Amino acid sequence: MASKKDYYEILGVPRNATKEQIKDAYRRLAMQYHPDRNKSPDAEEKFKEISEAYAVLSDDEKRRQYDLLGRADFGQYYTQEDIFRGADFESIFREMGFGFDIGDLFNMFFGGDFARRAYARQVTRGRDLNYNLEISLEEAFRGTEKEIEVPRTERCDVCGGTGAAPGTSLKTCGRCGGTGQIQNVRTTGFARFVTVTPCNVCGGSGTVVETPCRECRGSGLIKRRRIITVRVPAGVDDGQQLRLRGEGEASPNGGPPGDLFVNISIRPHPYFKRRGSDLYYDLKIGFPQAALGTEVTVPTLDGDVVVNIKPGTQPGEVLRIKGKGMPKLGGYGRGNLMIRVNVEVPTSLSPRQRELLEELAREFDQEVKPKKNFFHF
Ligand SMILES: [Zn+2]
Ligand SMILES: [Zn+2]
Repeated sequence: MASKKDYYEILGVPRNATKEQIKDAYRRLAMQYHPDRNKSPDAEEKFKEISEAYAVLSDDEKRRQYDLLGRADFGQYYTQEDIFRGADFESIFREMGFGFDIGDLFNMFFGGDFARRAYARQVTRGRDLNYNLEISLEEAFRGTEKEIEVPRTERCDVCGGTGAAPGTSLKTCGRCGGTGQIQNVRTTGFARFVTVTPCNVCGGSGTVVETPCRECRGSGLIKRRRIITVRVPAGVDDGQQLRLRGEGEASPNGGPPGDLFVNISIRPHPYFKRRGSDLYYDLKIGFPQAALGTEVTVPTLDGDVVVNIKPGTQPGEVLRIKGKGMPKLGGYGRGNLMIRVNVEVPTSLSPRQRELLEELAREFDQEVKPKKNFFHF
C-alpha cells in the first residue's frame, strides 16, 4: 500500500497544474525511479506511488473526484484497480523510450494476473425497468395481485441466447483465437510495447456465430411483451416502489438480468384521505345533532361502524376509531380512522324551521347575554 500523501505533493505540482505540467512531473520522476534504471530497494514503491498519483491526476473525472473527496475518501470509492484502469502509461513510456509491457506493470503493482482480470470481458447486468402501477385504496388496504404487461428484452429462447441457429454451434473466433483478447506488440528501437484489448470481432467472448439464429438474427436477444404478476402487499402507500429482482432487461452479454421497479400510486378515494396508516373521514352532522348528541353510521374500508357523537360536540372535533385505518406494512397492526366532525349550517329553511329557530334564538338571548368586546388601547 502506497503512503497516504497528497497526490499533488507526490508529483510536486500545484493543485491547479495543467495536464502538461502533471505529465512533465511524472515523466521526470519516472525517469528517476523506473525499476529499469533505479535499483535501490525503495525505488519500486516510489514508482508505484508516483504512478498512482499520475493515474488519478491525468484523468479528468478521477482528478475531479479526488479534488472533491480528498485522499482518504477517494480511496473508499476507487479501488487500486479502478485507479489504474484506463490510465495511459503506454504513450508516456514510449516517449521516454522505455520498453514496458502494460500487463507487466499492472502485475507488478497488484500482483498475480491482474492484467488479465483488468482486461477480461466485462459482463454487464441488464438494464433496470420502471413501471407505474395505479391501484385503488381498497386494493392497497387488502393487498392485491396485478398482471402487468412489460415490454422488455429477453434472452432468445430459440437459441438459448447464444445467437447460433439450433443444431449449429459457435465457432472459435479467428481474430483472437478464442482468448477474447488481442495483444498489440510494437517494437521501436530497443523498446517493446504490448497492449491487451478486448477482441473487437467477438466482443471478448472468444466465440463467433457461424449460422445466426433466425429468431434473434444472431443477437441472442429478442423484444417481447411479457405479462408479469405483481404481488402488492397490504398497506402499501402512494409513491412506494416494489422491486422485482431479475425481471428487468436481459444482459447483452450473458450477465444477470436487470430488475423491474414497480412504482405504486393510489387513486384518490371519494371518502377517505390517508396520512401514513391513518385514514381521515369528513363527517357532516346538523347543528341540533351536534348539540344534542347522536349515533351515526360511518363507513370504513371493512364495513360500517356506528359512532357515538357526544352532546356538545364542536365543529372540527376529531374522533379516533382505533384500528380502523390502513394495515401497517409488514403485517403488524393497523392505523386509526380519524373522523373529523363538520357541523352543517342550513342554507335554506322551511317556515316551520325558521319559526323554531327564531324561538330558540330568543331563548338563548335571554339566557346568555351577548358578551361585549372592548377595543381600548
Ligand atoms: Zn436466437
Ligand atoms: Zn475474438
